Amino acid sequence: MKDDLRIPLDRIPDEGLDVNIEIKPDMLKVEDNENLPLSGAKLTGRLERLGAAKAVFRGRAIGELTVECSLGLALFPLPVDEPITVYFQSPPSAEEVPEGEVECEEADLEVYYLRDTDIVDLVNPVRDQLLLAVPIQPRCPGECLGEDPELCRRLREGEGIGTEENIDPRWASLRGWGQAES
Ligand SMILES: [Zn+2]
Repeated sequence: MKDDLRIPLDRIPDEGLDVNIEIKPDMLKVEDNENLPLSGAKLTGRLERLGAAKAVFRGRAIGELTVECSLGLALFPLPVDEPITVYFQSPPSAEEVPEGEVECEEADLEVYYLRDTDIVDLVNPVRDQLLLAVPIQPRCPGECLGEDPELCRRLREGEGIGTEENIDPRWASLRGWGQAES
């Protein structure tokens, strides 16, 4: 399955190759890292050869990552829709010392090396781009009060956070907060 994201250069026709791949979490597994908590993901775009040992992929990765709230440990789904443009080229050979000069047709491009000299490996670019989509301090969408994962969960699922008779004193000051907001 992982092979779906590894495309030999000679499978790319002159006119380019349309890419439309359903991404399963284990397809992005790198060594001993855990699977990304990814669901409903796909990679779409187009792969083109730029020469004997160069290629470019332009497309996007779409899906949903399960992310932990940085304040309350609650898990919530984070929709991702990330553009990906990545160039592939041969790794520099040992005798060819890089002089700090890279030919770039576009600014800010991502360059990865071809795997085994002739395979476009989309695993790392896609994984890296999805990870970049996660904020450094993720917050539950909407009402997040942090501090208490159970509270985050209940807010997220639309449950009440207490009743007039039986309210946790810690949240007493929140009475009327919901009404005032709506
Ligand atoms: Zn939260």
